[in-house]
Amino acid sequence: MAEIRVRFPPSPTGYLHIGGARTALYNWLLVKKLGGKLVLRIEDTDVERSTEASAQAILDGLKWMGITWDEGPYLQSDYAEHHRETAEALVQKGAAYRCYCTKEELAAKREAAQAAKKSFQGYDGTCRDLTDEQRAAFESEGRESVVRFRVPRQEGSVGFNDLVFGLTEVSLAELDDFVIVRSNGVPLYVLSNVADDHRDRITLVLRGADHLVNTPKQVMLYQAMGWDVPQFAHMALTLDPKKAKISKRRHGEVVTVQFYRDHGFLPWAFCNFMAMLGWSTGDDRELYETPEDLIRAFSIEGMAKRNSVFNYRKGDPKFITDPKALHINALHLRTMAVADLAPHVKQQLEAASIWDTAWDEGGDRRTWFLELLELIRVRYHLLTDFVTLARAFFDDDYPMDAKATKKSLRKDPALAQYLPQLAERLEGLETYNLETTETTLRALCEELSIKPGLLINASRVAITGQGVGPGIFDVFTALGQDRTCARLRDKAKLVEQPATPSPQS
Ligand code: GLU
Ligand code: ZN
Repeated sequence: MAEIRVRFPPSPTGYLHIGGARTALYNWLLVKKLGGKLVLRIEDTDVERSTEASAQAILDGLKWMGITWDEGPYLQSDYAEHHRETAEALVQKGAAYRCYCTKEELAAKREAAQAAKKSFQGYDGTCRDLTDEQRAAFESEGRESVVRFRVPRQEGSVGFNDLVFGLTEVSLAELDDFVIVRSNGVPLYVLSNVADDHRDRITLVLRGADHLVNTPKQVMLYQAMGWDVPQFAHMALTLDPKKAKISKRRHGEVVTVQFYRDHGFLPWAFCNFMAMLGWSTGDDRELYETPEDLIRAFSIEGMAKRNSVFNYRKGDPKFITDPKALHINALHLRTMAVADLAPHVKQQLEAASIWDTAWDEGGDRRTWFLELLELIRVRYHLLTDFVTLARAFFDDDYPMDAKATKKSLRKDPALAQYLPQLAERLEGLETYNLETTETTLRALCEELSIKPGLLINASRVAITGQGVGPGIFDVFTALGQDRTCARLRDKAKLVEQPATPSPQS
């Protein structure tokens, strides 16, 4: 079997959209699975909308996701000559022709067809069979022309066997003589895309189902040129809960790959989530620990015909994106090797300027860092949680959650004494660990005739700023004797103060 060659040809007219990211991912998974090559082509022929910054943003997004390509990035604009030659060849063969109709003429014909309720309201074929004289006359009039493809006016249909959607056919009678070159000489997407896929020796076109309408036209272009027609596999779309297309205009930044990078997603977890939007093995497995896992499971057969739902509800304060995306990210956070998680957390801490190089250098501090990650990661959904919710573990300057302060730290005015008392006892410990801190706290509570919960909850808020977190004795141990005791004393001052605590960041 010949080598499989697929491609990802984004138009650099914005950011990397999650739909595009999914297309790139599926192509990448496929070549990793079956062998072959992935060609990256930047389709930058729309000069008004294409920018270099956008092309760069797309490359950055792919790199962040860990998607690699084997050839390119090629720039479609570098092959403009080839597109024009292809159009010219089609004209020479009689498979395409110049159309001199003006916009006004076309509009008038369309109106007439509508008025007469004709079943076919497309281009009427006025210029299909112009004589050389007629053409010359139009040219000397200074008329501009587009190039149209000559759809055979006969019975029958044009079809292709889509690897996902099956046999897809359109009757020739429904097809307009579509334009392949604009009047300014610039070829349209349908043509340049085919010319490039041919030049890049693409054997399989795997792209969004929004392109299904283009495929019959493209098949005709291949056939007219005498080129091999590649196989096609179209991916069902991903829509919002109201079945609308997902777009930046409608949904905002959450449709961009950058959003996930900036909001603390693990790149691979993001890919894992993307993969689930339109593909499954039929069971309910949702966690693919590594790219290798997913590559092993992936297949075109598992691709859905039905559109998938991106369950994002704008304005929902609880979920910044599809809850499933957060869930999958959390699964990865808590199951991946902690040594693999460490560099991601480091990046977050560095960006927040609370990274300590000692945590990287082996020895006790490194061990402390890794053990801490093990302890706290089970509660988090995003990498950013390591600098917000977990801040107190890495920095002595940590925000106090207002609700938790009110509820637990100010529950009983006597805590203003209890907390320093606890600090004193803990300070006196020669061996400071899980067991000794627990025994100490419980003994104190007994002496004071108070419920341990009162002191445990107040201590947690005092030393972490948060109302929830790992077991308190784990927290005591993770923070160490000095920091724990200093914080218990320091935050005891908040117990009596009626003023509002500093706001939670
Ligand atoms: N540049 C096109 C797009 O981004 C490519 C579509 C295709 O895969 O053929 O929509
Ligand atoms: Zn015409």
